[in-house]
Amino acid sequence: MADALSPAQAEVLALLRQRHRPRPEVEVTLAAGLRQRMESALAALAAGLVTPLFIGKSHLTQVHACEAHHQALRAQPFAWSMATARGSVAHRAIELSLHRRDRAAPLVLVDDALNRLEDDPGTSLADFLTGLDEGARAELRSEVNDLVAKFCELWPPLARQWAPRTESRVRAELCDDRLQLGGTIDLALGAASGMTPGSVLVELKSGASSSVHLDDLRFYALLETLRVGVPPLRVACYYLDSGTFTVEEVDADVLDAALLRTVGGAQRILELALGLRTASATPSRACSWCPLRCACPSVWTAGGDDPER
Ligand code: SF4
Repeated sequence: MADALSPAQAEVLALLRQRHRPRPEVEVTLAAGLRQRMESALAALAAGLVTPLFIGKSHLTQVHACEAHHQALRAQPFAWSMATARGSVAHRAIELSLHRRDRAAPLVLVDDALNRLEDDPGTSLADFLTGLDEGARAELRSEVNDLVAKFCELWPPLARQWAPRTESRVRAELCDDRLQLGGTIDLALGAASGMTPGSVLVELKSGASSSVHLDDLRFYALLETLRVGVPPLRVACYYLDSGTFTVEEVDADVLDAALLRTVGGAQRILELALGLRTASATPSRACSWCPLRCACPSVWTAGGDDPER
């Protein structure tokens, strides 16, 4: 089968397998130790919550970038946009590509995904999709088709024994379930064998690479470790526009970095939610889409110095 792969597909296969790398077993106490560290750092703050608080990857990214921006977004009800709908439809189409017995063309997969999501009555995504006018729907269909066509072109067929899972939910409940950490992994492959890591977590991205993407994957690796008791073998971000990977082996240092960032972010989110202090404002490119930009004295403007450069 390998002979039939394009160079890009062969590269993906080689990066996912990496059979030459050692796979040392992890201690059976690893997950319990991580949980204990997180709970002891967060328990006092979590005790002040009246209702459970959910924290996902975007909450952590926001609060680390600008607390005021995070607070403003927390106060807004979730609403679908073309960008968020594009990701959900693309992931559903890719999921269908992995499980259909025929090798359907990308546009067939996209239409199948759109029809299924629109026919899911009562969901907010169905309401959003059915409310699009013909032009906006065509635009969405075209953009999703581009992503799905790239995935089909660049990724090799995924063997059943790799147990591919798309839109795989991961969740950890801490501090008597007061804190709920969670998210959805675009693509998970493989599984641990005993205490030997074996899974690979993949995020599929359009656009340019960002260090935040690796932070997101480390967060998922931490949650997966708490869930399974064994960490993933590696995490990878795959950029569909360029056909390139960012790959990281998950070891004790990676889990430690993920824990410190998650705990630090969760502490800030809890302090703000409990009204223990005022949110600070830190200008960045996020000012461009921040709901506070008109009134914020710290806002970064295009004419000023870019603090992220
Ligand atoms: S405009 Fe910029 S600095 Fe001000 S709250 Fe929003 S993201 Fe933060």
